[in-house]
Amino acid sequence: MKNLKINNRFTAELPADPDQTNEVRQVKNALFSYVNPTKPSNPKLIHASAEVAELVGITADEIQSELFLNAFSGKEILPDTRPYAMCYAGHQFGNWAGQLGDGRAINLTEVEHNNDFFTLQLKGAGKTPYSRTADGLAVLRSSIREYLCAEAMHYLGVPTTRSLSLMLSGDEVLRDILYNGNPAYEKGAIVCRVAPSFIRFGSFEMLTARNELKNLKEFVEYNIKHYFPEIKGQPKEQYLQFFKTVADTTREMILHWQRVGFVHGVMNTDNMSIHGITIDYGPYGWLENYDPNWTPNTTDSQYRRYRFGNQPQIAQWNLYQLANALYPLINEAEPLEKILESFINNFESDHKTMFLSKIGIFTSTETDNKLIVDLEAALQLSETDMTIFFRNLSKIIKSDSAKTAIEKIQDSFYLPEEITGDILDSWKKWFALYIQRLNQEDLSDKDRSEKMNQINPKYVLRNYMSQLAIDEADKGDYSLINELYVLLQKPYDEQPESEKWFAKRPEWARSKVGCSMLSCSS
Ligand code: AMP
Ligand code: MG
Repeated sequence: MKNLKINNRFTAELPADPDQTNEVRQVKNALFSYVNPTKPSNPKLIHASAEVAELVGITADEIQSELFLNAFSGKEILPDTRPYAMCYAGHQFGNWAGQLGDGRAINLTEVEHNNDFFTLQLKGAGKTPYSRTADGLAVLRSSIREYLCAEAMHYLGVPTTRSLSLMLSGDEVLRDILYNGNPAYEKGAIVCRVAPSFIRFGSFEMLTARNELKNLKEFVEYNIKHYFPEIKGQPKEQYLQFFKTVADTTREMILHWQRVGFVHGVMNTDNMSIHGITIDYGPYGWLENYDPNWTPNTTDSQYRRYRFGNQPQIAQWNLYQLANALYPLINEAEPLEKILESFINNFESDHKTMFLSKIGIFTSTETDNKLIVDLEAALQLSETDMTIFFRNLSKIIKSDSAKTAIEKIQDSFYLPEEITGDILDSWKKWFALYIQRLNQEDLSDKDRSEKMNQINPKYVLRNYMSQLAIDEADKGDYSLINELYVLLQKPYDEQPESEKWFAKRPEWARSKVGCSMLSCSS
């Protein structure tokens, strides 16, 4: 891989764990531990992204090489590199969890390409000092889900880690999918993910919790220097600016999640990136029927902390934890609190603009709040598919009657027989208001429709679609992985040959494990 330019800043500049044994332990006074991936017994490349390869300095030809197979499965270490696992802590489901760290992720190296830096990280490459009681491995099903979803999110315009490669390890992994005492062997897999860095809110929380304030200062300054070089001024001012930047990019990320109907499922502080990118795809899911209370994560089914509608509040809660972690460097609560308050205020106003843009309204008026509130209520009266509803809404023209408009979005109803009486009346009222509102806009029907179709995707990675690809891959057929990968590269385009994927969740998927119910077991 002749253009791969190794440039390790993280390990060169930050404190390393002096202990180099690969044993589970508390790692103090260090941000990472050197550790090599476990060699897989029989790695096999299932899929790789030529675009991501090129982004980091690997050619399409090199993807087919033995070195690529070996390096990105963990079998061979790239020349001049020294893999490492990062040490971080975090709050899980609202509770302080102490040290967590890369329990099954191993950073291979940082590379520099076209003046950008990327960390290449294997997920599922074996035990590290942070594996706690687990095996450091990942199964094929969750690796397919992560691999496909990260790329789908990227093409939707949602900030995210990228996926370079998906490999089978050739080893078996024992998992109890539903945590109900029925463990079974599954195929092991390894994904190589790519991001500017995998630094998390929990990286800072760990240093503060341990009162390692010198390391904290050094680490924050490291982040500013490399990732936010535009931040200048007095140290305290810089730290605040750093926090504000993270709050801003996090807000933008959550707005995108709400726009496309993505539910992360495990918004623990160790799964929050300082770059405002989506990381750690576990039991995530896509809203099918529009239900703000929905979460795909069965581990969270009791309190639904990470439900769709709660994601903005949770992001703010997580930012609170980051603010607490930075506090010892700032020693003043007020400016941090101000940023946290403005997070929700800005979110609400941005969310309004975003939601209106989904319905084709690009200038806001006083009465638009009602339009939004009434629509959110109507969408929940009877199961209504989010993606199909918003996509088909662009077909409505200013001269439509409410009745014609309802016919145009009819396909989004899961139970069309329920759309009678009061429910039908609510929809009629809403469409009458909506069409009236459209008539106050200057945009032509055609222009509005085109704009809306750039905001409302036609194709998303519905939960059952991944499951179909997983079922086939389990049998050794990877063609659906590639079909979905190609489809989701153009989520806003009409792709007539793929119309079958613009369809409501099939009935069989309603309560199937892996489709609407997922656990953290991966
Ligand atoms: P998550 O919420 O899935 O991102 O994981 C939370 C923590 O558990 C992280 O520190 C992971 O590295 C760790 N973890 C999850 N699965 C495994 C596994 N199979 N082996 C070792 N560590 C794991
Ligand atoms: Mg995680």
